[in-house]
Amino acid sequence: MPSSARTTRRLGARLQLAEYVAGVLAADRAILSQAITLIESDLPADAELGMQLLEALIPHIAKSRRLGISGAPGVGKSTFIDALGIHITRGLGERVAVLSVDPSSPISRGSILGDKTRMARLAADERAFIRPSPAAGQLGGVAPRTREAILLCEAAGYRNIFIETVGVGQSETTVHAICDFFLLLVLPGAGDELQMIKRGIMEMIDGIVVNKADGDNRAQAERARAEYATALHLLPGYGGWTPRVALCSSLEATDIPEIWQMMLDHEAQLESSGRSAERRALGNLQWMRELISGGLSEIFNSVPSISELTPQLEDDVRRGRITPHAASRRLLKAFQSGR
Ligand code: GDP
Repeated sequence: MPSSARTTRRLGARLQLAEYVAGVLAADRAILSQAITLIESDLPADAELGMQLLEALIPHIAKSRRLGISGAPGVGKSTFIDALGIHITRGLGERVAVLSVDPSSPISRGSILGDKTRMARLAADERAFIRPSPAAGQLGGVAPRTREAILLCEAAGYRNIFIETVGVGQSETTVHAICDFFLLLVLPGAGDELQMIKRGIMEMIDGIVVNKADGDNRAQAERARAEYATALHLLPGYGGWTPRVALCSSLEATDIPEIWQMMLDHEAQLESSGRSAERRALGNLQWMRELISGGLSEIFNSVPSISELTPQLEDDVRRGRITPHAASRRLLKAFQSGR
């Protein structure tokens, strides 16, 4: 996403560092939201303040449960999150933060209201915080600053954090690296997802929910569950966990406690096998590597000869006049001699 799009999300004036810190620690949802806007901004002054804010909050960051929820548009993610969120807030008395990566439009302010209506009951619950963030690319996936947003929510004391993404088969590795549990929502009759899973994201999945398992769909959902279970059992799970497949009607809120229990069982399994910390550590390692790649790209693109050469070479690659390999070599050479 162009940086201009992200910075246009600035909502109002900036606060002082101490105001952000106090507001986030007091779980003031308006300030938490502004703090996330700050860390999503690309303005240099905001980046500096955002970094200071994260550093000030680090001693207060408590470990949360991070649940990644992914699925195609229309599968019922928001209905499911509303039902699960309400189970956790009203039923268990715990707080929930939902970070939904908004694939619709990077600059659409309307999406915030849209999300309020998407998760109407949860949005009205004072133990819940719902925050849509613009997606990095057109295909959905993880927002560029999702990890930082998670840390802010953790500092604000949210014990449970949902990261909602649109499943596109590309973002799952990053979501998996960010979350403790990665849940894929599918429809009763959808063979497409089964294909996608077989193509390579299966090892990312900790659980599958066949949603809309109600009314006439129930029998078909049962068949889908058997198919998904077979596909998942072909691979050993992480840390001794065997991924599970559950049926659910988010609309009728059936099976919600059982699905939450699946999460808790997974947590207990990973704790007892000692792999919980390892999974977080691997996620942090990937995060560091992504930051380095991003930083290197910035350095690369800031070299004048690169910005001069790139548009022409990209056009040549698009038109098939030069191979991607040859174009990349020319750019890397220009970079080496231009520094
Ligand atoms: P999202 O795009 O994945 O967030 O999907 P939504 O939660 O907006 O749901 C899309 C549509 O499916 C809405 O009309 C929901 O009412 C409906 N829906 C969601 N969950 C269920 C369910 O469990 N059963 C049925 N029958 N419909 C559902």
